[in-house]
Amino acid sequence: MKAAILSVGTELLFGEILNTNTKYLSQQLNELGIDVMYHYTVGDNPKRLAETINDALNKCDLILTTGGLGPTQDDMTKEIVTEMLHDELILNESILKALEEQFKRRNWKMTDNNRKQAYFPSRAVIFENNCGTAPGFALEEGIKTIVCMPGPPREMQPMFVNQVRPFLDKNRDGFLAFQMLRLFGIGESSLETVLLDLIDEQTDPTLATYAKQGEVTLRIASKRKSKEEAENAVKEMAERVKEKVGQYIYSMDGEELYEVVGKTLLQKHITLSCAESCTGGLFAETITKIPGISEVFDRGIVTYSNRAKMDELDVSESTLNTFGAVSEQTAVEMAEGLQKVTGSELCISVTGIAGPGGAVEGKPVGLIYICVRYGEKTVCKELRTGNQDRLWNRNYTLLHMLFLIFKILNENN
Ligand code: ATP
Ligand code: MG
Repeated sequence: MKAAILSVGTELLFGEILNTNTKYLSQQLNELGIDVMYHYTVGDNPKRLAETINDALNKCDLILTTGGLGPTQDDMTKEIVTEMLHDELILNESILKALEEQFKRRNWKMTDNNRKQAYFPSRAVIFENNCGTAPGFALEEGIKTIVCMPGPPREMQPMFVNQVRPFLDKNRDGFLAFQMLRLFGIGESSLETVLLDLIDEQTDPTLATYAKQGEVTLRIASKRKSKEEAENAVKEMAERVKEKVGQYIYSMDGEELYEVVGKTLLQKHITLSCAESCTGGLFAETITKIPGISEVFDRGIVTYSNRAKMDELDVSESTLNTFGAVSEQTAVEMAEGLQKVTGSELCISVTGIAGPGGAVEGKPVGLIYICVRYGEKTVCKELRTGNQDRLWNRNYTLLHMLFLIFKILNENN
């Protein structure tokens, strides 16, 4: 089913308010397996509104409108939609009664234009508005359906969830299932290249990639006659993807990397501490977002200066002098020192040049060393990000720290 979302309101065209309804409804329809083909925005003008609806009707089977259902002169969505789908407005007694009661309860005076809100197209399915005065409705003609909802998001959203979605559910032509795989350490274009045959092979399930700073999310979606069929198709495809790029996947169900790491630590009861230089506490901040992590997380120490590294972690002065604070040797001594101080099973350290300044001969901005001590084992990683941006480098380092832990934890099971 092809759908369009139509936002009505001159204030949207003026840029006075952000069109959040379109974003919300697009996501919702997407989940229902209804393809959104167009977003329209039009002002409170009868001629342009009619033209727009006409255009959308030519291109789509389903139109969802928001706005222009209120009691005032400039609210005309209902009138135009009724006209376009060749129906007429008739008074709905029960809505009128409900409106009258609502006004009495709130001690408001009811005016004639409020009464206008009790008129609906004769064939309409009406959606009550429990959060405001303007009810919504769906009107059908042949295979075309127009659903009209009020503009305010706090009225529109509950109406959509409680009434419109079940209405659409009954009328739709397929069931959608999808799964989000999350990967780290493989670029979006390399991923696409590796998966090219899977992507090219078929139109259902579909594979789509979204990239964000070193991470890639792969969305596998399928639309079939039954929910079960769609789910099976997605699962099968997820397994095929795993066979090809399994070493980069950290989640098969859309979880964030830090959540996966935190959960694994909790499950396996592995205690953790961190000593951070260039990330300034970002790792500790991130890992402590996980509820209940206090069971395994002992402490995070920010050892920014050389003195702090010596005082807190017993890094030797000669290591710092010979190799520098940003070196594998220093990272190793930081992790080892941290393990001595805390006794945590897994200790991670990081030291690097976040930029934009601070580069020295042979040590560019973006040079980072991460070291993990896990039991008796030491694993080190050198990063050269090639990026000058301080915040970017810190975030990217954080992801590498988490992924290194993820890898180590999954090797040892
Ligand atoms: P009302 O009965 O409140 O007049 P209505 O259905 O007539 O509702 P509009 O008058 O078009 O809706 O819009 C009312 C308010 O709803 C706007 O001032 C704005 O705050 C919000 N709104 C409308 N459309 C959108 C949208 N697309 N995205 C976000 N907010 C919106
Ligand atoms: Mg209005």
